[in-house]
Amino acid sequence: MRDISHGFGDIKRRVALSCKRKGRNPEDVVILAVSKTVDTARIREAYGLGLRDFGENKVQEFISKHEELGDLKGINWHITGHLQTNKVKYLPGKTHLIHSLDRMRLAGEIDRRMGLNGFMARVLIQVNVAREATKSGIYPEDVGDFLHDMGKFKNIKVKGLMTIAPDFDDPEQTRPIFRHLNKIFVDMGDKNIDNVHMKYLSMGMSKDFEVAIEEGANIIRIGRGIFGDRTYK
Ligand SMILES: *Cc1c(COP(=O)(O)O)cnc(C)c1O
Repeated sequence: MRDISHGFGDIKRRVALSCKRKGRNPEDVVILAVSKTVDTARIREAYGLGLRDFGENKVQEFISKHEELGDLKGINWHITGHLQTNKVKYLPGKTHLIHSLDRMRLAGEIDRRMGLNGFMARVLIQVNVAREATKSGIYPEDVGDFLHDMGKFKNIKVKGLMTIAPDFDDPEQTRPIFRHLNKIFVDMGDKNIDNVHMKYLSMGMSKDFEVAIEEGANIIRIGRGIFGDRTYK
């Protein structure tokens, strides 16, 4: 099993180098530890090393970890995977940020469930920049309309954008994709859309986070780089 302190140390060092190349402050980049399939003992270990942001893809798995780790102060839980509408009811009050809002019906359900429970959801809009058939996310040309429609939801705050780049052999190939999302991020931020605050740009994973940082990411989502290989994607 991978030594977490070694993995995390390596990621931090590489984040610092990428930031340096661009004159950015490493403290402005959140290292989100994607802990899907990772057991709670190992999550505790990562927390002990200073990690505070953890991402899960499956709601059931998230709920049980959230409960078991309820004693960890200041932990921020992120939902990074595709979110089924019928699972939203488990989330109010438990998530720091949902990265994967990708359709209106899901927004409606998030808004309704948060409202029922007196909570506010902070969300990112997932964008399918590379237009992959196998991935969720709205297309770049639809982001503007989608964001304008968010104004009607009282219990959702849009905090930025997220993308998953294609699984290229050479991470350099992700650059145009990350650059494109950053451009949308900046353009939309300039528009001052009601209920939309472009604060977070979530892009880059273990294989391609360095390119993502160079292209403006301020949340990188790292699974294997910290915890080692896992059994499901
Ligand atoms: C699994 C996953 C990650 C982490 O992937 P690694 O290659 O292990 O770093 C990041 N983002 C999402 C949406 C994921 O599903």
